Amino acid sequence: MADTPLFDRITIVGAGLIGSSVARAIRRGKLAGHLSMVDASKEVLNEAEALGLADSYSLNAAEGVAGAALVMLAVPVGAMASVGATMAPALMDGAIVSDVGSVKESVFKALSPLLPDHVHLIPGHPVAGTEQSGPGAGFASLFDGRWCILTPSEGADQGALDKLTAFWQGLGSTVEIMDAKHHDLVLAITSHVPHLIAYNIVGTASDLEEVTRSEVIKYSAGGFRDFTRIAASDPTMWRDVFLNNKDAVLEMLGRFSEDLTALQRAIRWGDGDALFDLFSRTREVRRRIIDAGQDDAKADFGRPHED
Ligand code: NAP
Repeated sequence: MADTPLFDRITIVGAGLIGSSVARAIRRGKLAGHLSMVDASKEVLNEAEALGLADSYSLNAAEGVAGAALVMLAVPVGAMASVGATMAPALMDGAIVSDVGSVKESVFKALSPLLPDHVHLIPGHPVAGTEQSGPGAGFASLFDGRWCILTPSEGADQGALDKLTAFWQGLGSTVEIMDAKHHDLVLAITSHVPHLIAYNIVGTASDLEEVTRSEVIKYSAGGFRDFTRIAASDPTMWRDVFLNNKDAVLEMLGRFSEDLTALQRAIRWGDGDALFDLFSRTREVRRRIIDAGQDDAKADFGRPHED
């Protein structure tokens, strides 16, 4: 029947940017008979309630997950284990437990020993987000046209995987199945290392700021401000990403450092051809991202400019 929701009851734990966006998209797609929301912070929960994001609200994960056919964890990666331990005894028989964490292998390792055998643990990661946090920052279309990567373990229940796939499709995403370790390596280079570079360059520039007396801010449109968007991302979330994807990030950083050394050498020796070749290749990468529908082609990210 077209009106039957995909799940009778869904619980989202963590009412921040991603949790609140999932809630809004669930509502938009009419995917839940009842939507329950849990957050450890009373203030966050009050804000979620004022926004009308769910049907019921709870500060306690065990209370919030009771009767849920799908439990979606949207807390920082480092908080997954404590939420898992609290909610485990209250999980319904046959419930699907998933998450949106940016690292996959460590989340599976943290949660799987804590959860009862009668639930299906299938980790996931929507490759979508912004630099903002909290329930007010979310929006229903966040996952539209974006990838959601699911990382089921070997022998994961096919019925549960199909249902979770249908769920993310209902949220607007295209689903890809991937091995958790491979996910962590791919995301290290496409997301984690770029964030680290942004944090580093903004940190270096802000240390220089005293010397240059606010010129860093004044002339930021020269490129710096685009790094500040990424470097404004949530400190707790990103601390947890680096602590939990250590090996893959260090491997990719090693390669990055080698390439940076080659660039330093090209500049020192006046090797303009090497610089030009690299910059031509990188321009091509941008074009391919636009062609793939992962960004639009507007100049300067579509920022308004005077004619
Ligand atoms: P967020 O806006 O900071 O929201 C996280 C929420 O979880 C906060 O309200 C936080 O409360 C709450 N929380 C923390 N520990 C908790 C606990 N033990 N029990 C219940 N609630 C708890 O962060 P977010 O950006 O939505 O990120 C959530 C997850 O999505 C992370 O695992 C992140 O890796 C993943 N993710 C993020 C993005 C992105 O672009 N932001 C993209 C894809 C995936 P307090 O504020 O009181 O701590």
